[in-house]
Amino acid sequence: MSTVIYETNSPEETHALGKQIGEAAKAGELYTLTGDLGVGKTVFTQGVAEGLGIEEPINSPTFTIVQVYEDGRLPFYHFDVYRIGDIDEMDEIGYEDYFYGDGVSIVEWAELIEELLPQERTDIIIEKDLEKGFDYRRITVISHE
Ligand code: ADP
Ligand code: MG
Repeated sequence: MSTVIYETNSPEETHALGKQIGEAAKAGELYTLTGDLGVGKTVFTQGVAEGLGIEEPINSPTFTIVQVYEDGRLPFYHFDVYRIGDIDEMDEIGYEDYFYGDGVSIVEWAELIEELLPQERTDIIIEKDLEKGFDYRRITVISHE
């Protein structure tokens, strides 16, 4: 396990960090994103998508659980499980084909489906600290290999 802490002071910086991670991402990897509403999970995800070479716009897949993008270097599976009612909905969409497939998965609100997450993954936690400014974010990246 390795932990790296980043600090950003603008959405652009968070996007750039996501982009670096997208550029380095490998087939089969899964990233979780944890943090309050409005902290920057989608901004980060948009950076990852850009780093994967995806040109389609990335929005939060609020009503679909997963959105698939196939125009980049690797398939990209963007989950936002915020509104999941029951964990069975993950089975219904066949989540294992994504989590254990050859693309890169990102899961916003991953803590809501913790029991389904593979051991081998990278957890990304985004936090505010208002004492350090309104746009400050601490981004902790923990890789479990
Ligand atoms: P989430 O997906 O976590 O609910 P979003 O990514 O949709 O959040 O929104 C994050 C909001 O916070 C955006 O309006 C963005 O402009 C703003 N913001 C301000 N500072 C930062 C920062 N350092 N990193 C990311 N977003 C930031
Ligand atoms: Mg979001």
